Amino acid sequence: MKLLLAEDDALLADALCTQLRGAGFEVEHAPNGAVAEYLLTKQHHDIAVLDIGLPMLDGLSVLQKVRQTQPLLPVLLLTARDSLDDRVAGLQAGADDYVTKPFDFPELQARLHALLRRSQRHSGPGGSTQLGRLRLDDSARRAWVNQDTMELSGREWSLLALLVSQQGQVVTKDQINQAWSGSDASEVGQGNAIEVYVHRLRRKLEGAGVTIRTVRGLGYLLEADAT
Ligand code: CA
Repeated sequence: MKLLLAEDDALLADALCTQLRGAGFEVEHAPNGAVAEYLLTKQHHDIAVLDIGLPMLDGLSVLQKVRQTQPLLPVLLLTARDSLDDRVAGLQAGADDYVTKPFDFPELQARLHALLRRSQRHSGPGGSTQLGRLRLDDSARRAWVNQDTMELSGREWSLLALLVSQQGQVVTKDQINQAWSGSDASEVGQGNAIEVYVHRLRRKLEGAGVTIRTVRGLGYLLEADAT
């Protein structure tokens, strides 16, 4: 399991590297946000641990940039403050979990393993993601319900991939707009766009065994139906 650790506190980074290697991870250390972003975009990692307070580029900005190309990478944030603002910002940037400093290594280790189990459970052969009867192929940007190909526009694909990558967690409208920021201009400028696209996706997901729930005032959440 290849892990990227972005932490600027040299003593803490040294200790964590040693403990993580002892726990079986192959660890790469980035001392600032710019190096973290570079390594995460140039190389494959199975999981990333990002300190929020990093020099050059803070952890949340690294996360936002990385999410644009790797919506499914499990990311855990380290935050020095147990602050609601940081948690909300982290959620909006697409974090999967948090640990608040100071923390005990066993807690970090347990959370990393939980994230890895979750990401492996949903990734099938060939880098595809399976959820209910829905299957996504991230690299081909295609999706199927049972064996039927879903006909998806660029924005519909981006929305679906984002919801699936954060399944069980609220995806905010800001996150959706961010995921769309590089998408096809011909789709831009439709009134109530997010609601319209969610409505269309819900129709296309009928029979998929997953539901897009509206979380009033917050955003949307994708859940696998109980079986
Ligand atoms: Ca720091």
